[in-house]
Parts: sequence; structure tokens; C-alpha cells
Amino acid sequence: MWRVEKATASRGARYARRIIERYLETLDHEELVVRRGPRSGLYSIVAIHSTVRGPALGGCRMWTYHDARAAVRDALRLSRAMTAKSAVADLPLGGGKGVVMLPSAGPPLDPDRRRAALLDFGDTVDSLGGRYVTAEDVGTSDADMEVIAERTEHVAGLSLERGGSGDPSASTALGVAAAIRVTGERAWGSPSLVGRRIAVLGVGHVGARLARLLAEEGARLVLADVDPAKRVLADELGAGWAAPADALTAEVDLVAPCALGGVLDHDSVPTLRCRAVAGAANNQLAADDVAALLQARGIVWAPDFVANAGGIINIAVELEAAGYDPARARARVLGIGDTLREVFAVADASATTPLAAAMELAGRRLGADRGAGPGAARIPGV
Ligand code: NAD
Repeated sequence: MWRVEKATASRGARYARRIIERYLETLDHEELVVRRGPRSGLYSIVAIHSTVRGPALGGCRMWTYHDARAAVRDALRLSRAMTAKSAVADLPLGGGKGVVMLPSAGPPLDPDRRRAALLDFGDTVDSLGGRYVTAEDVGTSDADMEVIAERTEHVAGLSLERGGSGDPSASTALGVAAAIRVTGERAWGSPSLVGRRIAVLGVGHVGARLARLLAEEGARLVLADVDPAKRVLADELGAGWAAPADALTAEVDLVAPCALGGVLDHDSVPTLRCRAVAGAANNQLAADDVAALLQARGIVWAPDFVANAGGIINIAVELEAAGYDPARARARVLGIGDTLREVFAVADASATTPLAAAMELAGRRLGADRGAGPGAARIPGV
């Protein structure tokens, strides 16, 4: 189903309509809604890639885009990635993504207009009748989820006080640490991190928590961030500090990218001096064929959407009938280690890369569920 509401007049809307028309024949998404919010005047976009395994879960990104095409493309791309992430983690969830498109010029939103945009987004979510469930993402917080919840019940990631699962970063970090141990099994034959040299690239919400966990397990850390204020954490943990470019190419056992995507490309991979890469950042590979390049260099790579699924696994527990339980969530998140082991086993059995193996596993789980429905046939280009 394709809807563009109240959108016929503006240039942005015409772009959005054109991109929908252009993509219609090639997309495997189930639904795309583009709606101009009556309160805020800002676009709400929701892309549902697949509900084959359950409601399409995916965060609400509040971001500035060059134009409406870029915003729609982002929602389409990210919702498809969510299908793969949930399927490979074996969650009873599909893939979706929400976007609130901020104005490309002018001052930041004042609190009233921001609230209006969130209420508008809540109405858009509600119009989908539970086929899409929203949560936090870049640019939104658990406080924002509470505003959205004024207009719809299809919200996850609410604060702990409201019975939700709160900030997902701690679960994401816990899952990445589990992935790093399993990556270690493959790269150097042991899950122990005692004395292992690890460079954490980006010490924000996830990276800082991950650094603490790795330090507790006895790893020797090098931290890097574009924000020099983050050096305080390095000092606290007795870790080294490096410029981001130096940390990426440091002679370490493992690099953990925890900042932006696209750090692994045809230029950077030949310069790596680590044995393995596993981290939280989404879309670490600039292109899918970089997975083969890593493999050819003998560098073990844990697919990002497997390693960083802790946040969504935590939210999935919040959506269970029994309600949120931190102990149950923790056990599920630690299961990322088993999933990654399975991915590596599939890669060995099929003589392929971990990326191809993870996609194969996700595709199997989608196909096995209900046969070939929309969104079940293929999930390319995560
Ligand atoms: P964040 O914004 O809290 O932290 C990112 C950190 O990276 C910041 O400290 C920032 O200064 C630093 N940074 C930015 N550009 C950098 C660069 N070029 N080199 C080095 N450092 C740089 O974000 P976060 O929530 O910690 O998420 C980190 C990554 O993990 C993102 O790619 C995000 O999409 C992904 N991720 C996060 C979660 C979650 O639960 N927060 C879940 C899944 C995936």
C-alpha cells in the first residue's frame, strides 16, 4: 500500500511521489506512508518492509535531509535492514522504520514544534493499526516516545518507570561484547579477552558502555572519538587514546567500530592491522563486496546487524505478553553469541562470507515462516 497524504502541493511532496513511483516496480516493501503533519507542517514517513515474522519494529529517526527523496530512501533502506536484523536474531518481528524530516534550513525546532512533530508522527503510526511499532533512533529519546505514546499505543522503548525497556544502549553494548567474544573464538581461538588489544572507535552511548565491559574482562583498550572530551573515559579506564583514523589502523587484535557507518571500504581495509572487526555501528561496510575483501585479508568480521541487535532484542522483550523483565532481556541479548556462531558455521558450510551467511540465515527464517510473502522473498542491500 502506498500513501502520500496532504502532500500534493509542495515540491518535497512531488519528489516523494516521484521516488515512490520510480521504486514501485523494484521495491519489495509492504507499505510506505508519507504524511505532512497538520500540527508541525513536517513530514512523517513510515516504511514497512515486512510483517512476515510479526509487527514491523523500527526506530523513529528525527533528522535533517537534503530533500524528501533522501528521507524516503533512508526509511526504505533502514526498514529493510530491520527485517534482516530481527529475522537473524529470530525475533517475532518484522522490519519497519519511521522518519520525521526536520527542516533543512533555519534554527533547530523549538520545543512546541518538536512536540507537534512527535504528535503528528504518533498519528501516522496509529493509522497503521499496529503493523508498525516505533521506538527510539537517532535524534529521538525515550522522553520523545512518551509524547508519541499520547497518540498511539504502538510504541516501544518507553522509560523503565512506564514499564518500558528504557535506553537500549546498554543492551546493545552487552550484545556487542558477546559478539566480540565469539569473534575472538574464530580469530584467535578463545573467547577470553584477557590481555587482548581492542580499539573502540567512538565512545558514545554504546561505545563507552562497551569499553567498560571490555575493560572489566581484562582487555587492553585504545579509545578514539572525534570529541576530545571523551578522553576522560580513557584516563578512567587506564586505556590508550588515539585519533579515530589511527585507531582504525592500529595494530590490535580487534577493532570495534561504534560511531558512524561506512568505515570499512576498499581504501581502509587494505590498511587494517587487526585480526578482527566487531562493533555496534550500523552499515560498517561501505559496500557489500567489502565483506569479501576482509575475508581475503584473513580479517574476521562480525556482521553489524548481528552484533548490534541487543537493543532491538531488549525491546522485543518489552513487547512480550509477560511484560519487560531485565533478566529475561539480558539472557536473550547474550544469545547474540550463539547467533553469531551459527552465522560463522553457515559461512563455513557455504564457503561464503559472514555477511552472505547472515543474509542467508535471515532469508531462511523469513522464508521458513510463511513462505514467500511480500518482504519474504529477498532482503538485499542491508
Ligand atoms: P552516539 O551518538 O551516542 O555515539 C557516537 C560517538 O561516536 C560519539 O561519541 C561521537 O562523538 C563519536 N563519533 C562521531 N563520528 C566519529 C568519527 N568519525 N570517529 C570517531 N568517533 C566518532 O551513538 P550510539 O548510540 O553510541 O551509537 C553508535 C553506533 O551504533 C551508531 O552507528 C548507531 O547507529 C549504532 N547502534 C546503536 C544502537 C543503540 O542502542 N544506541 C543500537 C544499534 C546500533
